[in-house]
Amino acid sequence: ARTTSGSGSGSGTIILNKYQLGRLLGRGSFAKVYHGRCLDDNSTVAVKAIDKTKGFQGPLEQFIIREVSVMRRLNHHPSILKIHEVMATKTKIYLVMELAPGGELFSKLQQRGKFSESTARNYFHQLISALHFCHQNGVAHRDIKPQNMLLDQHGNLKISDFGLSALPEQLKSGMLHTACGTPAYTAPEVLYRKGYDGFKAD
Ligand code: ADP
Ligand code: MG
Repeated sequence: ARTTSGSGSGSGTIILNKYQLGRLLGRGSFAKVYHGRCLDDNSTVAVKAIDKTKGFQGPLEQFIIREVSVMRRLNHHPSILKIHEVMATKTKIYLVMELAPGGELFSKLQQRGKFSESTARNYFHQLISALHFCHQNGVAHRDIKPQNMLLDQHGNLKISDFGLSALPEQLKSGMLHTACGTPAYTAPEVLYRKGYDGFKAD
């Protein structure tokens, strides 16, 4: 297998002598997410590999540090994706997280067209429980959508992608000022750009 000192970081790569990367699970704006295996105990994980060299270096690193500190604070809710560790090399940042083998709720919704009322209620219950926990801990997610709602092996919800969320110390006069999220899912008040309540927007 190749190592991180080589050019790539795809399948087969062993990162920091501890995790072997497997197949690509998905890709985001700045990152690729791989299936991973821990060489110590053979457990499976998901590894998000972020390429530091692809522009936005300063702000991007800030985004990642934020994502990690947010996820760490929220590690104790069953419906929030856990983060195990963070490792950095010269060119990459690796986030080792809990694997969500069921993939995105979005794909499931696409396959089925729609959910029955009881299925929808079950997902919604897990979602609001997770959001309630976030809000109690002073964190607004700000990018809730079915693409960021993953599923574990039992079909339980795991909320992911806290990259866009803001920590309390970043709240200006109690209101959030940065327009963010994904256009189709953005709360109307976010678009008015007059400041909004991130908790209510969730
Ligand atoms: P970005 O923040 O760049 O959008 P995401 O964290 O949303 O990246 O990851 C991109 C995609 O990778 C997700 O939409 C999902 O399909 C897949 N993915 C991310 N994390 C996991 C995970 N822990 N388990 C399984 N698949 C994942
Ligand atoms: Mg995403």
